[in-house]
Amino acid sequence: MKFEQYPIFEGIKKSISKLGFKKPTDIQYKSIPAILRGEDVLAIAQTGTGKTAAFVIPILHLLQERKIKGRTDGVKCLVLAPTHELALQTEGVFNELGKYTRINTFCIHGGVEQEPQIQRLNEGVDVLIATPGRMFDLVSQGALILRRVEILVLDEADHMLDLGFIKDIRDLMRHLPLKRQTLFFSATINEKIKSLANSLVSNPIRIQISPKNPVAKNIQHSVAFVEMDDKRFFLESIIRSNENKKILVFVRTKVRAERVKKALERVGLLSETIHSSRTHTERELVMENFRNSELKILVATDITARGIDIPAVELVVNYDMPETAENYVHRVGRTGRGAEKGQAISFCSSEEKEVLNEVENNLGKPILKIEISKKDYEFVIDLSEEKLHDWKALLLEEEKRIQKISKKKKKKF
Ligand code: ADP
Ligand code: MG
Repeated sequence: MKFEQYPIFEGIKKSISKLGFKKPTDIQYKSIPAILRGEDVLAIAQTGTGKTAAFVIPILHLLQERKIKGRTDGVKCLVLAPTHELALQTEGVFNELGKYTRINTFCIHGGVEQEPQIQRLNEGVDVLIATPGRMFDLVSQGALILRRVEILVLDEADHMLDLGFIKDIRDLMRHLPLKRQTLFFSATINEKIKSLANSLVSNPIRIQISPKNPVAKNIQHSVAFVEMDDKRFFLESIIRSNENKKILVFVRTKVRAERVKKALERVGLLSETIHSSRTHTERELVMENFRNSELKILVATDITARGIDIPAVELVVNYDMPETAENYVHRVGRTGRGAEKGQAISFCSSEEKEVLNEVENNLGKPILKIEISKKDYEFVIDLSEEKLHDWKALLLEEEKRIQKISKKKKKKF
């Protein structure tokens, strides 16, 4: 079935065709009718398979149908996302697909002043996309009223229902009307989260695409055994052999992100970092540059592991193994989006082998191991600019030493 045949508002079809989407992806094919019928949905599908449009298209249609001309009397749809970047990206999809509708979309997140956000909310917003922190601030100040919400979406639902956020989500429910439609979307889900989701809504329709294969089939992923202290040499080697490709490098902590950036700088490679200690403006600029390919190498913490859709990221490097098995799926899923092909490689040190086991257990199969002989391993290290610099420095020192000696000798004679 093509989008043209869908029973949805013509203006939305026009935007879909402008975006170049011809037919729905599997998850869109299965979710759109259920959402249009007003059902609660728990939808699980691999990374990069179009989950955003799977909820945005039917939501825009439902709200457009229900909206009385020109009137906006409170937020009708609330979409919660874990990070600023994902919230802004989702706002973009609502804006693009909703261009020819009467639906107003707005995004709120922390790290910026709240006054302009309050002002905009007062002017009337139909769809609000938010990160939980700022949303709660505004709710507790009475600046955001959620009594008219008809549809609640939790994108990256397993993460949003996980430890850090679950209390917030339960609190949020008290501010929402009892009668509403709730939609959960993610690429990963476990039993605990499934029962949590069930405790929030009764009997959601469960839609799961490729449950046995959480990593999309267009992503080739492998692991190389590299010790902690050698990782920088291997990253340098990968970057040099993938010249001009867009590479996303995941590290465990913010401090390590900055360290990797510095290590790359030392060998003449330009990169940028993104993590929670950077300001919102910096984060936005870095993402923009990475999106438009001015920036080729982005070193990130798990802040960009979930949901971020950047075209043409050809390679993901797990410089450090992820902390959770789920995050492996999300990190590698930043490549191979839609119909693109992608590659991911993970560096696993002796200390990280346990995590690798967990990741493989979660995937239900082993990850391809790259065999590196001792000779090749040493070759990669020796070839590093850092080592060449060390060599040059050593030679220079040696030269100076010889010059000194010869001067002394000259003096003697
Ligand atoms: P997910 O949330 O499943 O990880 P996204 O919603 O971010 O994936 O979509 C991934 C990419 O696929 C986006 O760039 C989006 O524009 C594209 N896409 C979505 N739906 C379609 C479609 N029906 N046809 C072609 N491309 C699509
Ligand atoms: Mg998504």
